[in-house]
Amino acid sequence: MNINQNYLKLENSYLFFTIAKKVQEYSAANPGVKILRLGIGDVTLPLVPAVTEAMQRAVTEMGEAEAFRGYGDYEGYPFLRQAVCGYYAGKGVKLEEDEVFISDGAKSDLGNILDIFSEDNAVLIPDPVYPVYVDTNIMAGRKITFISGNAANGFLPLPDGRSDIIYLCSPNNPTGAVYNREQLKLWVDYALERDAVILFDGAYEIFVQDGGLPTSIYQIDGADKCAIEFCSLSKTAGFTGTRCGYTVVPRALIRGGESLNKLWLRRQSTKFNGVPYIVQRGAEAVFSDAGMAQIKNNIGYYLENAKNIAKTLAELDIWFTGGKNSPYIWLKCPGNMTSWEFFDFLLEKIGVVGTPGAGFGANGEGFFRLSAFGKQEDVTEAMRRIRSVMEKD
Ligand code: PLP
Repeated sequence: MNINQNYLKLENSYLFFTIAKKVQEYSAANPGVKILRLGIGDVTLPLVPAVTEAMQRAVTEMGEAEAFRGYGDYEGYPFLRQAVCGYYAGKGVKLEEDEVFISDGAKSDLGNILDIFSEDNAVLIPDPVYPVYVDTNIMAGRKITFISGNAANGFLPLPDGRSDIIYLCSPNNPTGAVYNREQLKLWVDYALERDAVILFDGAYEIFVQDGGLPTSIYQIDGADKCAIEFCSLSKTAGFTGTRCGYTVVPRALIRGGESLNKLWLRRQSTKFNGVPYIVQRGAEAVFSDAGMAQIKNNIGYYLENAKNIAKTLAELDIWFTGGKNSPYIWLKCPGNMTSWEFFDFLLEKIGVVGTPGAGFGANGEGFFRLSAFGKQEDVTEAMRRIRSVMEKD
């Protein structure tokens, strides 16, 4: 037998392993120092009451003979798909229920969607970006072209070169940069012209506060004919451990004479058996009035952290993007340090942990990601320590 040789082409994921190892060593050598973690992309606030109450009701139903449910629909229960359509209607986007597919999160769908595309498609991926796009394409043996995000373009690269599959992530992980309508329109026009498909990752859309910025690619004319959108309740509502997301595949999206919506349904009904009823009831509650108000409170908490970090960096005259409509702040390492040099500097001098930008692509070298998902008191203390060491240095 032969293994998939493409797996051998994957780069080892040293990033989080190396971070954990360095932090462990520092912690052993400095037992009295409270380590402040601003590197994680995981949330820290618990699920909101509207969600846990809905899930508790669903648990009770599952123990009652009349209410018990076995296998659900592969694409998700109608009540949740309708709730997602209602959420999009609030953004001015009209979706039909059968254009929404419920999943166990955006990561799986972002990887699985490649099943419906031929392996000889050219792939365009911004650099730096969420590493899953790169690795899932390497696993399938596709040719990847990188498009450069940098300080000059605000880490928001615009169309260039030839491609069939285009990844866009806005608000971006790791840079926190957000495309505006004009920029997204350029991408949509480019995809329509070339018959390409945009895979739009909106995992952080809830963080967009500026009403003029798009929170869905379908707010751009023509996007329903060239884009698939991936969303997640992980950061929106603290579902990182609970697992629920949704993917929109418009019926108007036709390639090679075939409906991609139909191909995706075929793929999901063959390889996926749906998300637990209890989780889907919790997810439905996210979109209720009470649920939305509660999660917006949590988002406000994280955005307060982001503001605190951004203010500190601005006062220290350190270049950064993000932090306004995003939980991530992407900064230029001071004193021309490399990403890992700055990582070591923060850890060793003040016990603060961030994420080296080099872990998100070649263009991330010399940059650094701070996350706003920590506890407010920890972020405040981390900023106090950063000020003390940067002002001194
Ligand atoms: N997309 C981006 C840009 C992310 O940063 C993440 C998680 O960090 C995901 C998708 C994955 O989300 P999920 O937890 O829904 O799988």
